Amino acid sequence: MATMKDLRGDVSTWCPGCGHFSIMAGIQKAIIELGYEPHEFAIISGIGCSGKVSEYIRSNGFHTIHGRSLPVAQGVKIGNPELKVIASGGDGDGYGIGLGHFVHASRRNIDMSYFVMDNSIYGLTKGQTSPRSEHGFTTKTGTSSNKEYPVDPVATSIVNGATFVAQAYSGDIKELSTILKRAIEHRGFSHVNIFSPCVTFNKVNTYDFYKEHLTSAEKPFATRDEAVAAIRENNGLITGILFEELRDDFQAKLGIDFDMQSLESGEMDEQLLTSIQA
Ligand code: SF4
Ligand code: MG
Repeated sequence: MATMKDLRGDVSTWCPGCGHFSIMAGIQKAIIELGYEPHEFAIISGIGCSGKVSEYIRSNGFHTIHGRSLPVAQGVKIGNPELKVIASGGDGDGYGIGLGHFVHASRRNIDMSYFVMDNSIYGLTKGQTSPRSEHGFTTKTGTSSNKEYPVDPVATSIVNGATFVAQAYSGDIKELSTILKRAIEHRGFSHVNIFSPCVTFNKVNTYDFYKEHLTSAEKPFATRDEAVAAIRENNGLITGILFEELRDDFQAKLGIDFDMQSLESGEMDEQLLTSIQA
Protein backbone atom coordinates (compact mmCIF):
# COMPACT_ATOMS: atom_id res chain seq x y z
CA MET A 1 0.00 0.00 0.00
CA ALA A 2 1.31 3.46 -0.92
CA THR A 3 2.34 5.90 1.81
CA MET A 4 2.63 9.70 1.89
CA LYS A 5 6.41 9.25 1.42
CA ASP A 6 5.85 7.32 -1.83
CA LEU A 7 3.70 10.18 -3.15
CA ARG A 8 6.06 13.00 -2.18
CA GLY A 9 7.59 14.70 -5.24
CA ASP A 10 9.72 17.83 -5.60
CA VAL A 11 10.27 20.26 -2.72
CA SER A 12 7.46 22.82 -2.74
CA THR A 13 8.05 26.53 -3.38
CA TRP A 14 4.50 27.50 -2.35
CA CYS A 15 4.26 30.26 0.28
CA PRO A 16 3.75 29.05 3.86
CA GLY A 17 0.01 28.95 4.57
CA CYS A 18 -1.05 28.65 0.90
CA GLY A 19 -4.31 26.72 0.57
CA HIS A 20 -2.81 24.53 -2.16
CA PHE A 21 -0.90 22.46 0.45
CA SER A 22 -4.13 21.00 1.81
CA ILE A 23 -5.42 20.20 -1.66
CA MET A 24 -2.21 18.36 -2.53
CA ALA A 25 -2.42 16.45 0.77
CA GLY A 26 -6.09 15.70 0.06
CA ILE A 27 -5.22 14.17 -3.33
CA GLN A 28 -2.38 12.12 -1.79
CA LYS A 29 -4.67 10.97 1.04
CA ALA A 30 -7.38 9.99 -1.44
CA ILE A 31 -4.93 7.91 -3.50
CA ILE A 32 -3.71 6.10 -0.37
CA GLU A 33 -7.12 5.55 1.20
CA LEU A 34 -8.63 4.27 -2.05
CA GLY A 35 -5.81 1.71 -2.21
CA TYR A 36 -4.10 2.88 -5.41
CA GLU A 37 -0.38 2.92 -6.14
CA PRO A 38 1.28 6.13 -7.44
CA HIS A 39 1.88 4.62 -10.90
CA GLU A 40 -1.85 4.05 -11.37
CA PHE A 41 -2.43 7.83 -11.51
CA ALA A 42 -1.60 10.60 -13.96
CA ILE A 43 -1.82 14.20 -12.75
CA ILE A 44 -1.96 16.73 -15.55
CA SER A 45 -1.63 20.40 -14.61
CA GLY A 46 -1.78 23.82 -16.24
CA ILE A 47 0.20 26.98 -15.47
CA GLY A 48 0.14 28.95 -12.23
CA CYS A 49 1.11 28.24 -8.62
CA SER A 50 -1.45 25.41 -8.76
CA GLY A 51 0.24 23.93 -11.84
CA LYS A 52 3.17 22.78 -9.74
CA VAL A 53 1.02 20.05 -8.18
CA SER A 54 1.95 17.58 -10.94
CA GLU A 55 5.58 17.86 -9.77
CA TYR A 56 4.90 17.87 -6.05
CA ILE A 57 2.92 14.62 -6.16
CA ARG A 58 5.00 11.66 -7.24
CA SER A 59 2.97 9.83 -9.88
CA ASN A 60 2.77 9.95 -13.65
CA GLY A 61 2.42 13.62 -14.48
CA PHE A 62 2.64 16.33 -17.09
CA HIS A 63 2.94 20.07 -16.43
CA THR A 64 1.30 21.38 -19.59
CA ILE A 65 0.69 24.89 -20.95
CA HIS A 66 -1.70 27.60 -19.79
CA GLY A 67 -5.34 26.53 -19.85
CA ARG A 68 -4.66 23.24 -21.61
CA SER A 69 -4.61 20.68 -18.83
CA LEU A 70 -8.05 19.35 -19.81
CA PRO A 71 -7.40 18.47 -23.48
CA VAL A 72 -4.09 16.85 -22.53
CA ALA A 73 -5.69 14.92 -19.66
CA GLN A 74 -8.53 13.70 -21.90
CA GLY A 75 -5.93 12.50 -24.40
CA VAL A 76 -4.05 10.66 -21.66
CA LYS A 77 -7.24 8.88 -20.57
CA ILE A 78 -8.15 7.87 -24.13
CA GLY A 79 -4.56 6.75 -24.75
CA ASN A 80 -4.26 4.74 -21.55
CA PRO A 81 -7.72 3.99 -20.18
CA GLU A 82 -6.34 2.01 -17.26
CA LEU A 83 -4.87 5.15 -15.66
CA LYS A 84 -6.86 7.19 -13.16
CA VAL A 85 -6.51 10.71 -14.56
CA ILE A 86 -6.70 13.99 -12.63
CA ALA A 87 -6.45 17.35 -14.35
CA SER A 88 -5.63 20.18 -11.98
CA GLY A 89 -5.02 23.89 -12.22
CA GLY A 90 -6.08 27.28 -10.97
CA ASP A 91 -9.04 29.55 -11.56
CA GLY A 92 -7.13 31.82 -13.94
CA ASP A 93 -5.88 28.82 -15.89
CA GLY A 94 -9.15 26.88 -16.02
CA TYR A 95 -11.86 29.55 -16.05
CA GLY A 96 -9.98 32.12 -18.16
CA ILE A 97 -7.99 30.85 -21.09
CA GLY A 98 -9.15 27.28 -20.46
CA LEU A 99 -12.89 27.99 -20.13
CA GLY A 100 -13.81 26.56 -23.54
CA HIS A 101 -12.11 23.26 -22.73
CA PHE A 102 -13.93 23.17 -19.38
CA VAL A 103 -17.36 23.51 -21.00
CA HIS A 104 -16.64 20.82 -23.59
CA ALA A 105 -15.11 18.43 -21.04
CA SER A 106 -18.27 18.85 -18.94
CA ARG A 107 -20.56 17.82 -21.78
CA ARG A 108 -18.21 15.09 -23.12
CA ASN A 109 -18.15 13.12 -19.85
CA ILE A 110 -14.81 11.36 -20.18
CA ASP A 111 -14.06 9.26 -17.11
CA MET A 112 -11.61 11.57 -15.26
CA SER A 113 -11.48 14.26 -12.57
CA TYR A 114 -10.85 18.00 -12.71
CA PHE A 115 -9.76 19.68 -9.47
CA VAL A 116 -9.53 23.47 -9.59
CA MET A 117 -7.57 25.36 -6.92
CA ASP A 118 -9.64 28.52 -6.79
CA ASN A 119 -7.93 31.45 -5.04
CA SER A 120 -9.76 34.15 -7.07
CA ILE A 121 -6.50 35.75 -8.18
CA TYR A 122 -3.48 35.17 -10.43
CA GLY A 123 -0.92 34.24 -7.74
CA LEU A 124 2.16 33.18 -9.71
CA THR A 125 2.32 36.50 -11.57
CA LYS A 126 2.03 38.44 -8.28
CA GLY A 127 -1.65 39.22 -7.87
CA GLN A 128 -3.82 40.25 -10.81
CA THR A 129 -7.62 40.12 -11.01
CA SER A 130 -8.74 36.68 -12.22
CA PRO A 131 -12.00 35.40 -13.76
CA ARG A 132 -13.05 34.46 -10.21
CA SER A 133 -12.34 37.83 -8.56
CA GLU A 134 -15.36 39.59 -7.11
CA HIS A 135 -16.84 42.71 -8.70
CA GLY A 136 -15.05 45.68 -7.12
CA PHE A 137 -11.97 43.59 -6.20
CA THR A 138 -8.76 45.63 -6.08
CA THR A 139 -5.16 44.53 -6.39
CA LYS A 140 -1.81 46.26 -6.00
CA THR A 141 -1.18 45.63 -9.69
CA GLY A 142 -4.45 47.14 -10.99
CA THR A 143 -5.18 50.78 -11.72
CA SER A 144 -8.86 50.49 -10.74
CA SER A 145 -11.31 48.04 -9.17
CA ASN A 146 -12.68 45.01 -11.05
CA LYS A 147 -15.50 46.11 -13.38
CA GLU A 148 -16.51 42.53 -14.24
CA TYR A 149 -18.43 39.83 -12.39
CA PRO A 150 -16.90 36.42 -11.58
CA VAL A 151 -17.42 33.20 -13.51
CA ASP A 152 -19.63 30.74 -11.62
CA PRO A 153 -17.66 27.50 -12.03
CA VAL A 154 -19.98 24.92 -10.49
CA ALA A 155 -23.15 26.29 -12.11
CA THR A 156 -21.26 26.23 -15.43
CA SER A 157 -20.28 22.57 -15.20
CA ILE A 158 -23.75 21.60 -13.96
CA VAL A 159 -25.64 23.28 -16.80
CA ASN A 160 -23.19 21.90 -19.34
CA GLY A 161 -23.75 18.28 -18.35
CA ALA A 162 -20.98 17.29 -15.92
CA THR A 163 -22.05 14.15 -14.05
CA PHE A 164 -20.33 14.92 -10.72
CA VAL A 165 -20.00 18.49 -9.46
CA ALA A 166 -18.76 19.50 -6.03
CA GLN A 167 -17.25 22.40 -4.19
CA ALA A 168 -14.80 22.16 -1.28
CA TYR A 169 -12.59 24.34 0.90
CA SER A 170 -8.93 23.72 1.63
CA GLY A 171 -9.49 24.75 5.28
CA ASP A 172 -11.83 21.77 5.84
CA ILE A 173 -9.61 18.76 5.14
CA LYS A 174 -12.20 16.22 6.30
CA GLU A 175 -14.88 17.32 3.83
CA LEU A 176 -12.26 17.96 1.14
CA SER A 177 -10.74 14.48 1.22
CA THR A 178 -14.17 12.81 1.32
CA ILE A 179 -15.22 14.78 -1.77
CA LEU A 180 -11.96 14.10 -3.64
CA LYS A 181 -12.30 10.37 -3.00
CA ARG A 182 -15.90 10.36 -4.26
CA ALA A 183 -14.87 12.39 -7.31
CA ILE A 184 -12.02 9.99 -8.19
CA GLU A 185 -14.31 6.99 -7.87
CA HIS A 186 -17.12 8.57 -9.93
CA ARG A 187 -17.46 7.02 -13.41
CA GLY A 188 -17.53 10.02 -15.74
CA PHE A 189 -16.30 13.64 -15.61
CA SER A 190 -16.05 14.90 -12.03
CA HIS A 191 -15.43 18.59 -11.37
CA VAL A 192 -14.45 19.88 -7.93
CA ASN A 193 -13.93 23.62 -7.39
CA ILE A 194 -11.82 24.10 -4.25
CA PHE A 195 -11.60 27.45 -2.42
CA SER A 196 -7.90 27.81 -1.70
CA PRO A 197 -6.72 31.08 -0.08
CA CYS A 198 -3.71 32.85 -1.61
CA VAL A 199 -2.29 34.25 1.63
CA THR A 200 0.24 36.45 -0.14
CA PHE A 201 -1.84 38.38 -2.68
CA ASN A 202 -5.56 37.95 -1.97
CA LYS A 203 -6.54 39.87 1.17
CA VAL A 204 -10.30 39.44 0.57
CA ASN A 205 -10.89 35.69 0.11
CA THR A 206 -9.01 34.68 3.25
CA TYR A 207 -9.43 31.73 5.64
CA ASP A 208 -11.50 34.02 7.90
CA PHE A 209 -13.70 35.04 4.95
CA TYR A 210 -14.50 31.42 4.06
CA LYS A 211 -15.00 30.45 7.70
CA GLU A 212 -17.60 33.17 8.02
CA HIS A 213 -19.42 32.79 4.69
CA LEU A 214 -19.39 29.13 3.61
CA THR A 215 -22.37 26.86 4.07
CA SER A 216 -22.39 23.16 3.40
CA ALA A 217 -24.91 21.15 1.37
CA GLU A 218 -25.92 18.06 3.32
CA LYS A 219 -26.46 15.93 0.23
CA PRO A 220 -26.49 16.32 -3.56
CA PHE A 221 -29.49 18.17 -5.01
CA ALA A 222 -32.00 16.04 -6.87
CA THR A 223 -31.91 18.02 -10.12
CA ARG A 224 -29.53 20.31 -11.96
CA ASP A 225 -32.03 23.18 -11.57
CA GLU A 226 -32.19 22.72 -7.78
CA ALA A 227 -28.41 22.63 -7.53
CA VAL A 228 -28.03 25.83 -9.56
CA ALA A 229 -30.74 27.57 -7.49
CA ALA A 230 -28.92 26.67 -4.24
CA ILE A 231 -25.62 27.93 -5.65
CA ARG A 232 -27.26 31.24 -6.58
CA GLU A 233 -29.03 31.58 -3.21
CA ASN A 234 -25.69 31.19 -1.43
CA ASN A 235 -23.81 33.51 -3.78
CA GLY A 236 -21.68 30.52 -4.84
CA LEU A 237 -20.38 29.99 -1.30
CA ILE A 238 -21.67 26.47 -0.77
CA THR A 239 -19.57 23.32 -0.35
CA GLY A 240 -20.40 19.63 -0.70
CA ILE A 241 -21.36 17.32 -3.53
CA LEU A 242 -23.89 19.48 -5.37
CA PHE A 243 -24.97 17.20 -8.18
CA GLU A 244 -24.29 13.63 -9.24
CA GLU A 245 -25.77 11.32 -11.84
CA LEU A 246 -24.63 8.18 -13.57
CA ARG A 247 -24.78 8.02 -17.32
CA ASP A 248 -22.65 6.46 -20.01
CA ASP A 249 -19.25 8.05 -20.18
CA PHE A 250 -17.62 9.01 -23.48
CA GLN A 251 -15.88 5.67 -23.94
CA ALA A 252 -19.08 3.71 -23.32
CA LYS A 253 -20.94 5.88 -25.83
CA LEU A 254 -18.39 5.04 -28.48
CA GLY A 255 -18.98 1.38 -27.66
CA ILE A 256 -15.28 0.78 -27.33
CA ASP A 257 -13.77 -1.88 -25.14
CA PHE A 258 -10.84 0.08 -23.75
CA ASP A 259 -8.45 -2.49 -22.39
CA MET A 260 -4.71 -2.77 -22.72
CA GLN A 261 -4.89 -5.89 -24.90
CA SER A 262 -7.02 -4.22 -27.56
CA LEU A 263 -4.88 -1.10 -27.28
CA GLU A 264 -1.64 -2.96 -27.90
CA SER A 265 -3.00 -5.20 -30.67
CA GLY A 266 -4.39 -2.26 -32.63
CA GLU A 267 -7.94 -3.64 -32.23
CA MET A 268 -8.92 -0.45 -30.40
CA ASP A 269 -7.99 1.68 -33.40
CA GLU A 270 -10.36 -0.38 -35.55
CA GLN A 271 -13.14 -0.10 -32.95
CA LEU A 272 -12.64 3.65 -32.74
CA LEU A 273 -12.73 4.05 -36.52
CA THR A 274 -15.87 1.93 -36.84
CA SER A 275 -17.69 3.82 -34.07
CA ILE A 276 -16.78 7.23 -35.49
CA GLN A 277 -17.94 6.17 -38.97
CA ALA A 278 -21.24 4.77 -37.57
FE1 SF4 B 1 -0.06 30.19 -2.86
FE2 SF4 B 1 -0.52 32.74 -3.47
FE3 SF4 B 1 1.91 31.98 -2.67
FE4 SF4 B 1 1.00 31.23 -5.07
S1 SF4 B 1 1.44 33.34 -4.40
S2 SF4 B 1 2.06 29.91 -3.57
S3 SF4 B 1 -1.21 30.94 -4.63
S4 SF4 B 1 0.03 31.92 -1.44
MG1 MG C 1 -5.74 31.67 -9.19
